[in-house]
Amino acid sequence: LIQLAIPLNFIGFVYREIRQGLTDIEQMFDLLEVEAEVEDSPDAQPLAIKAGAIAFRDVHFAYDPARPILKGVSFEVPAGKTVAVVGPSGAGKSTLSRLLYRFYDVQQGAITIDGQDVRDVTQKSLRAAIGMVPQDTVLFNDTIAYNIRYGRPDASDEEVRAAAEIAQISGFIEHLPDGFKSMVGERGLKLSGGEKQRVAIARTVLKSPPILILDEATSALDTRTEQEIQAALEIVSKNRTTLVIAHRLSTVVGADEIIVLKDGRIAERGTHAGLLRQNGLYASMWNRQREATEAEEHLKQVREAD
Ligand code: ADP
Ligand code: MG
Repeated sequence: LIQLAIPLNFIGFVYREIRQGLTDIEQMFDLLEVEAEVEDSPDAQPLAIKAGAIAFRDVHFAYDPARPILKGVSFEVPAGKTVAVVGPSGAGKSTLSRLLYRFYDVQQGAITIDGQDVRDVTQKSLRAAIGMVPQDTVLFNDTIAYNIRYGRPDASDEEVRAAAEIAQISGFIEHLPDGFKSMVGERGLKLSGGEKQRVAIARTVLKSPPILILDEATSALDTRTEQEIQAALEIVSKNRTTLVIAHRLSTVVGADEIIVLKDGRIAERGTHAGLLRQNGLYASMWNRQREATEAEEHLKQVREAD
């Protein structure tokens, strides 16, 4: 029995190790949202970041050839600036970020960073230069510290703590019974969407990339959480080239340029004030969201008065 127990135990151990490994890999692909589809070109060079300027030039893309998603999209994110992309759900906003990160290749046109086509550089160097705070953050079944440190594995405890501070999540973590050593994910603590997003922000703060992609969570966050996340993002995106995919227009007011994407094309572009003056799609989206927010607040007041 003893003889049997040892190998079984060992097999159990190996199995757990493999499973954990698989879970991490699976989660990493979840984190990246797609399976690896593209490969480095044989003569791929490391991306040489100078200022971190991004350009989309006449980008065409379809997941399924029968259904084009992007039909000739051109815009630039100058180095250190913030450009926001807004538009109806399904317009192709998140697709832009996936193409920049090169989960997929454009079918026509090009995407460049400091003049280098993303198809000509190594994926490793490309992804090292870009910090992505995705729509839905998947956390590893590990400690909070591990999940934050994933942004830069050699970061010290002090740096992990400082990143959490910037992401406005350190207060929350310190109140947990095990603090930064608390387990999260399926086998640990379940974090809310807003908390997970702040963990992802902390991870990105540690990574400190020259280019940032923020894909805002679609799930409704309460106003306070939204403000905390917004404050964290403003700190992180300062002086970094930032592409924001925005669902809540309140978060794009300060962007250097706002791109309104509709049916795979840029329908309008400009600053917040300029777009309001145009009184087109953006202005109507803005008014609709403002009315919704006001109705929500009114409802809350009514409830509180009860
Ligand atoms: P947005 O972020 O603007 O809401 P997305 O860029 O995520 O829109 O998606 C644009 C369109 O592409 C949607 O209709 C979506 O259903 C479709 N789409 C997204 N990802 C895939 C995929 N992996 N395979 C096929 N279609 C997809
Ligand atoms: Mg999206």
